[in-house]
Amino acid sequence: MKKQTTLKDSFSASGIGLHSNSPVNVRVTPAPAYTGYVFRRTDLNDFEVPAAPQFVTHVSYATTLMKSGVMVSTVEHLLSALLGLGVDNAIIELDSLEVPIMDGSARQWVELIERAGTIELQAPRAYLRVLKRIEVSEKNRFMSIEPADEFRITCEIDFNHPMIGHQSREISFKADGYSVEIAPARTFGFVEELEMLRKNGLARGGSLENAIALTPEGILNHEPLRFGDEFVRHKILDIIGDLALCGMPIKGHIRASRSGHGLHTMLLSTLLRDESAWEMSTN
Ligand SMILES: [Zn+2]
Repeated sequence: MKKQTTLKDSFSASGIGLHSNSPVNVRVTPAPAYTGYVFRRTDLNDFEVPAAPQFVTHVSYATTLMKSGVMVSTVEHLLSALLGLGVDNAIIELDSLEVPIMDGSARQWVELIERAGTIELQAPRAYLRVLKRIEVSEKNRFMSIEPADEFRITCEIDFNHPMIGHQSREISFKADGYSVEIAPARTFGFVEELEMLRKNGLARGGSLENAIALTPEGILNHEPLRFGDEFVRHKILDIIGDLALCGMPIKGHIRASRSGHGLHTMLLSTLLRDESAWEMSTN
């Protein structure tokens, strides 16, 4: 039986929010067993917003949580790194509404978590074990989860762009490849959508330092792609971050086609609502 974990030491980071362009300081600290991931707004009397599906409020271009009117935005990359590295419990303090985007990937979060280290707590790790297949879809977007003895993701994307096209990839968490295969993959956006996004209060902090900027023919960034299929790898990074809202690691096989934050959180809440579809298990 595995035990729950938390960070050995706290770590801090500063940056700007991808959508808000607001400067923000973050401190991630150890937490006791059964805490899960909890955001704490130090600029709002330490108000706490737990990372849980019932607090998801916006899902376009990022995952935003809200409790009693207090928001925490763009939570998915940091949560992805915590879950990806097997950290079960952590408090995430921030002094503004949006988690910093860093370089658009989870690479710096992984480095900070690895430097801080992890420790075991005196409590068994509980998994959410999937017992039956659940499926959600929206137009041509599709996602399902089915029983499996490990957390496995099979993902495909399809964009009509010469550098993307159809990409598919599968990751298994038994193989321990998160840090190397998934975490460095950056978020991406289309330059032609930028004006529309900014009019809608999105991507105001977006730059070549924190996103792959796609023109109709190629990319604007001087830094080349980190992987030929960086785009589908980032989609997997996002799926892991959104499913971290489950509050415990999942044993199940996810299949996703053209999915986004809306479908990721819809799959999780549909699964959790059907109590015959899962059980809590310590192995
Ligand atoms: Zn993302």
